[in-house]
Amino acid sequence: MKVKTRFAPSPTGYLHVGGARTALYSWLYTRHAKGTFVLRIEDTDLERSTPEAIEAIIEGMNWLDLSWDEGPFYQTKRFDRYEQVINQMIKAGSAYRCFCSKERLEQLREEQMAKGEKARYDGHCRCESVQKSYTGNEPHVIRFANPVDGSVLFNDLIRGPIEIANKELDDLIIRRTDGSPTYNFCVVVDDWDMEITHVIRGEDHINNTPRQINILKALGAPLPQYGHVSMILGDDGQKLSKRHGAVSVMQYRDDGYLPEALLNYLVRLGWSHGDQEIFSREEMIEFFTLDAVSRSASAFNTEKLLWLNHHYINHLDADYVAQHLMWHMQKQGYDLSHGPDLVSIVKLYGERCKTLKEMAESCAYCYNDFSDFDADAAKKHLRLVAKEPLELIKHKLTQISELDWQTETIHHAIQSTADELSVGMGKVGMPLRVAVTGIGQSPSVDATIQAIGKSRTLSRIDKAINYILARADQ
Ligand code: GLU
Repeated sequence: MKVKTRFAPSPTGYLHVGGARTALYSWLYTRHAKGTFVLRIEDTDLERSTPEAIEAIIEGMNWLDLSWDEGPFYQTKRFDRYEQVINQMIKAGSAYRCFCSKERLEQLREEQMAKGEKARYDGHCRCESVQKSYTGNEPHVIRFANPVDGSVLFNDLIRGPIEIANKELDDLIIRRTDGSPTYNFCVVVDDWDMEITHVIRGEDHINNTPRQINILKALGAPLPQYGHVSMILGDDGQKLSKRHGAVSVMQYRDDGYLPEALLNYLVRLGWSHGDQEIFSREEMIEFFTLDAVSRSASAFNTEKLLWLNHHYINHLDADYVAQHLMWHMQKQGYDLSHGPDLVSIVKLYGERCKTLKEMAESCAYCYNDFSDFDADAAKKHLRLVAKEPLELIKHKLTQISELDWQTETIHHAIQSTADELSVGMGKVGMPLRVAVTGIGQSPSVDATIQAIGKSRTLSRIDKAINYILARADQ
């Protein structure tokens, strides 16, 4: 049997990490089985669905590079089909018109609650006499005639066997009074028409599954297999929400994460393969199975995500990381026409930066001149004693040709300055660092100077010497 799965988000907001993990599991399951992955946009809730949300979902899927083979299909374009199936069901007797008024339903509910029973429709209109009374004008909803006896049993691919007695299930409304089909019904028709073999979705849908199975059975449709993925919690054990920080996939891009890091993080959040932590995309596909997916909820841990991001910044091809860094550089308004290429920035700052956003911020002095030295750093390192080392290192750096402007030659110049003045490297390196970067921390000073370039370096040393002189005058 050829595997066919789908990711079926409702476009009512951004693609959040929970949805992205469900999409990832479904995608991995499909790719592992060499099946077909469908993207279906469940946009029947006209009030809550927006075109921006559809775009955000597609943007998120693209950024994570979770490619789909069919779709995106839109439920709003399939209303004729839903109508057709409803009519068939009415004819076949597996659906019926319900004329009950709101008042009657409300009263029924109150009575049931008073008796301590679960509120559910009592099947009042489910008899032939009521159905025959329809003249074509009375407002009504359509209900699914759920089996009265027996139970629905399915083997959840993640949670094992689940059985629900039919008497627990309502005669579900499948078409509202205004003629619009309801959510559970559209899902069923879609899964059937799209020949979905495996439904992998969030556990918040577990109650829908027996209802959907009953409708599929009534239609004589083959049943897909179902797997329900557990929730993601915040680090405080509560359901993950905005107050825990970023929950939207694109927010992670904005915050400087690589898609590889987020995918690796999400795959491990509720799934394991021995004690392996780092997975390439190919490894995820190769090793992913649903029986290794956890049944319990998983807690989001930003520290671990940061750790993975740091890992990927340093282990992926620097050219590739630089492409992602470019986005942040542009967002932060850098003029990249003067300054080092981004591959060298990745190599230089990878060690000390956990996110690309931080990297883009940290390398500012490689592209832009700064107006002031950081006050603390200047106070500590741009003192009168630093004047001589700065003058000497400037002299030595001036001698280096553009062609020889390499980390090693710069290092050598710093070393020989320190030797000639009989001081430690730090007595030259620190003033030099503050002079060229304006701040007290940077990657190794020789490599930083190499990246900043000769003319900028020299003029910044001049500026630092002038600063020292002006201060000494006061
Ligand atoms: N549209 C549903 C949601 O976004 C998913 C339905 C399903 O996967 O069956 O939660």
